[in-house]
Amino acid sequence: HERVDTDAAIRQTDSDAILARFSAVQKQYLQDPFVKPLLPRGAHLQPSRPPLINIGTYVRSQGIDALVDQWLALSHREGKKCQIVSLGAGSDTRFWRIATSPRKDILGRYIEIDFSENTTKKAMAIRKSKELSALLGQPEDVTLVGGGTGLSSPVYHLRAADLRSPPTESLASVLQSNSYDGSPLLDPSLPTLLLFECVLVYMTPIQSSTLIQWFVDYFAQSSSTLGGIVYEMFGLNDPFGKVMHANLKARHVELPGAAPYPTFASLPTRFTQHGFQHANAITLRDYRRSCVSSTELERISQLELVDEVEELELVLAHYAITWGCKTFGDDAHNSGWG
Ligand code: SAM
Repeated sequence: HERVDTDAAIRQTDSDAILARFSAVQKQYLQDPFVKPLLPRGAHLQPSRPPLINIGTYVRSQGIDALVDQWLALSHREGKKCQIVSLGAGSDTRFWRIATSPRKDILGRYIEIDFSENTTKKAMAIRKSKELSALLGQPEDVTLVGGGTGLSSPVYHLRAADLRSPPTESLASVLQSNSYDGSPLLDPSLPTLLLFECVLVYMTPIQSSTLIQWFVDYFAQSSSTLGGIVYEMFGLNDPFGKVMHANLKARHVELPGAAPYPTFASLPTRFTQHGFQHANAITLRDYRRSCVSSTELERISQLELVDEVEELELVLAHYAITWGCKTFGDDAHNSGWG
């Protein structure tokens, strides 16, 4: 029973994530026309998030967008299509944002995985929204799969799986069969980017490393490239981290993977322990300081009054984006990524 409650709390973190994004969009930190159709019921009644959270959402979004964009650009330069797999995708809108960007033709396949409760809701929301469905292709090419827990289209695929289960039992069956054209859903020949945005923290370190290793093994036979981006909290053992941890606990979110990466320096281990040749990390504090342009900093400083700048820096210093790249064979996709 406890596990059921914990899982419900974990799935519920997706509502927090999309409401935070909606708040940042409403306050004009970000532009994202695709949030609205995916909002949970009653979302418009929710108060917007405090400025500190909006800024955090903005910095995280910009940082991850920049890395994904560079990945797509590298594929393009090599004349290849690429594949993106978003693990614990929740109500993320990234597919639609790419599909309406100049990079859309570089995207060969986009796969999203989450718990079946969440994928079912998302599949329904997509079907209901003309705006979202239209970007998936012709109506006859967009089909519900897995008894409504998933959705297939020429590029975009939504599937249910529990990422904590041994991948050979859950993910493998989902990713190795493609109801769309019979080939494996996860194409081993395409350069592939794995996205883990706010998800690995809900697993034990063993579960998350088993998951990443499964992908490494899957691509090992090909001469492709595997990239990964992880966004997570770290350093939960210091005094400030302990407060953040307690806040999550109060919302019944248990973190089994509590502080697997207690220090900034240890973050790239997420990837290097699986033989990724390149791995780097940056905190949101440093991304804001050194990668957000002064024009943008100026623009967002006009949006809301932030009087707790020190607290902002402290919070942002506990979140990091880590990215890594593994090449199989002599592929040179990694050169200059990040
Ligand atoms: N990645 C999205 C984003 O950044 O907006 C959603 C983040 S939300 C905080 C975490 C998501 O991971 C939820 O949708 C949750 O259901 C999903 N998740 C967590 N553990 C999972 C698991 N074991 N299997 C599948 N999905 C999982």
